[in-house]
Amino acid sequence: MIGNLFSDQKLKGDKMANQDDREITRESDSGEVRIMVVDDEESILKTVNVFLAKSGYKVTTFLDAQNAIEALKKDVYDTVITDLKMPGFTGVEFVKKAKQVSPNSDFIVMTGFPSVESAVACMKLGATDYIAKPLDMEYLKIVVERTLYKRALERRAAERDYYEQISRLDGLTGVYNRRFLHELLDFEIARCDRYKHSFSLLMIDIDDFKKINDKYGHPTGDEVLKKLASTFKSLIRKTDLVVRYGGEEFAIILSETSKEHGIIFGDRIVNGVATLKVKGIPRDDTLTISAGLVSYPDNARTQETLIKRADEALYKAKGMGKNTLCVYGT
Ligand code: GH3
Ligand code: MG
Ligand code: MG
Repeated sequence: MIGNLFSDQKLKGDKMANQDDREITRESDSGEVRIMVVDDEESILKTVNVFLAKSGYKVTTFLDAQNAIEALKKDVYDTVITDLKMPGFTGVEFVKKAKQVSPNSDFIVMTGFPSVESAVACMKLGATDYIAKPLDMEYLKIVVERTLYKRALERRAAERDYYEQISRLDGLTGVYNRRFLHELLDFEIARCDRYKHSFSLLMIDIDDFKKINDKYGHPTGDEVLKKLASTFKSLIRKTDLVVRYGGEEFAIILSETSKEHGIIFGDRIVNGVATLKVKGIPRDDTLTISAGLVSYPDNARTQETLIKRADEALYKAKGMGKNTLCVYGT
């Protein structure tokens, strides 16, 4: 099974193809996979070296464990294959020390039949895999490929987490995006439901933004959006969250905030924006926002209804002449 999964992977250039034929980039920056082999038996080093080099790896061998540790301090090795019985070092000691100097390398231990316990001890110290002696070269190759493959998958998962994280943010303003608002609201509702707390949601829309774009140009419009996002961020508490909901609409989740306190905050930001100075917009041309406020659990208990009611309050504010805050249900 393992053989089927890994042995038919073809090594191409600096990439390793997986069974879906997608490509996973290898560990080392140069594209080379560097393998260190440590054993006090020269014949084993030779055999392993020849075999792995033929498979496309850059192999460096060490007869002496201490020299190997010194080499790990200087160079990067993706994988270290080590014997467990060497003069002056037990395999466990070696793995422990080597892991300290090169925590990013993967370790594979080679062990004779009687010392499987040592192999287990090495795995507990962080070795990835072990292979029994006498060595079966094809199996060794599978173990090496499996180790590299696992590492590449881990790295890809970490990259995925990273991209997921940055995709939570709006590209222009750097605040959270609409997609993430839904997750945030789910979380906030669950938390407040559990602890019987409240929070408020503010929906904000820039007044006559189309005119600003028309009059001063789209880049100035973008500056306005960035300036507003940073202004909102500077006015909220650490536990509050600013989201760009759409083109010129923002949402702010006010944690642990009752309707009364939400009104105080909402008024503050509406008034704050009206006196804001934005690059490219003359002082006598005012920039204003309208806002709608809802509170959980007073006005609604689901996120759909919360958003819908905040929108209703916002549109009421527009109808009241803009540059104002309107509270749902009042
Ligand atoms: P109202 O007071 O009723 O909200 O009027 P408005 O002009 O703000 O609203 P409308 O919905 O008519 O226009 C919104 C404008 O926002 C139109 C669109 O070009 C602009 N807009 C949306 N996203 C962006 C953006 O990322 N950058 C810039 N510069 N403008 C944007
Ligand atoms: Mg709008
Ligand atoms: Mg608008």
